[in-house]
Amino acid sequence: MDEVGTDIAILGGGLAGGLIALALAQLRPELRVTVVERGDRLGGNHVWSFFATDLPEGAAALVEPLIAARWGDYEVRFPAGRRHLRTQYHSMTSARLDAAVRSALPAEAVLSGCQCVEIASNHVTLHDGRTIRAGAIIDARGTSGLPHMAGGWQKFLGQLVRTAKPHGLERPIVMDGTVAQHDGFRFVYCLPFSANEVFVEDTYYADGPEVDAALLRSRINEYCVAAGWQVAEVLNEESGVLPVVGRGDWAAFRAGHERPDIALAGVRAGLLHPLTGYSFPSALAFALDLAKQSDVSGSALAAWSKARAARHWRKGSFYRMLTKMLFAATTPDMRYYVLQRFYRLDCALIERFYAGESSLSDRLLILSGKPPVPFFRAVATVLGRPSLNALTLPDRSA
Ligand SMILES: Cc1cc2nc3c(=O)[nH]c(=O)nc-3n(C[C@H](O)[C@H](O)[C@H](O)COP(=O)(O)OP(=O)(O)OC[C@H]3O[C@@H](n4cnc5c(N)ncnc54)[C@H](O)[C@@H]3O)c2cc1C
Repeated sequence: MDEVGTDIAILGGGLAGGLIALALAQLRPELRVTVVERGDRLGGNHVWSFFATDLPEGAAALVEPLIAARWGDYEVRFPAGRRHLRTQYHSMTSARLDAAVRSALPAEAVLSGCQCVEIASNHVTLHDGRTIRAGAIIDARGTSGLPHMAGGWQKFLGQLVRTAKPHGLERPIVMDGTVAQHDGFRFVYCLPFSANEVFVEDTYYADGPEVDAALLRSRINEYCVAAGWQVAEVLNEESGVLPVVGRGDWAAFRAGHERPDIALAGVRAGLLHPLTGYSFPSALAFALDLAKQSDVSGSALAAWSKARAARHWRKGSFYRMLTKMLFAATTPDMRYYVLQRFYRLDCALIERFYAGESSLSDRLLILSGKPPVPFFRAVATVLGRPSLNALTLPDRSA
């Protein structure tokens, strides 16, 4: 059977795997890198968005070719009013990630349509029997749900629609919480990609992961009608169920995915923002730092990535506490109030929050003020083990 030799094999060409491939191609051109992705194209079917302030230093050039749209500001809407925030907002697409990785690596280094079926520290076997021998293996195969963790879900369905006439929306609405509330905190998210194209996503911070696609489509349609947008065509659709983490058994989670001398990356490594479920800022910083490691042997990268993920988990304790408050101390119908209050805070504090970099004074400000739940219930929830849902879904990464 065929054998492929490489310095670094990246398993899973999603967001994290794609960014690692780009960072290595740019910063370590001497290394042979191979990406193995079971789908036909890298990145699946996604729009990934981020604030310009999420970018770590030195990352702009790497990300530039991935950006499909950029806006100089955004707004949020709540029953108490609207706010316009002057933070740049960017959206990337999986189609651009696929194209960027393919142009950065030799054609034979991108093995799409290939499922890894057996993994060891120095080789991987593919579904067609081929073997990849590698100096180091990075497992970035994603994960559905987060075993050994508990919290809630951020679930959504979004449609890119073409409107019959210009929709007139000038900037993204990152959260429109003025919509009727169902299934926890509901908001609509809108990205105006062009004068006649707008991406409209119906989103829920909910206790359960079930998505009724037909219902969410009809709510998107209702939203468009209310906004005065006549939908001429639905151009694309995506759906997601992201875990929102309130607590977890870190050691058990890692043990579930770890293999000797194999580095974990992306959400499989636990590198996500506990309260938003987003992973782009951590995945990008991880990719750039990985490419700066002088020792790129399997054991060195495995040890480095393990220590980094453990630091990320410790740093996430404040956001996990907020998740507990959102899901266990607040009744579902009052969740919107927490976000409405949060968006009254200073713009720079909000930027640091999304980047996962809240300072001590940010934390105090986020927690101060009149909470939507009695003070003692909030304290008991944070200090105790409130009832939260297990964040498990069937794992499809094997
Ligand atoms: C619809 C949607 C929208 C999102 N939007 C945002 C956003 O705007 N901003 C943000 O920061 N986060 C967003 N997220 C959350 C999170 O950042 C993404 O899920 C992100 O793609 C996770 O990156 P990852 O590389 O860890 O996993 P993935 O991107 O899921 O990549 C894993 C890859 O591994 C492949 N794979 C799995 N098993 C195998 C196997 N055995 N062999 C070969 N390949 C395999 C999969 O096909 C997949 O391509 C979104 C999530 C979803 C679902």
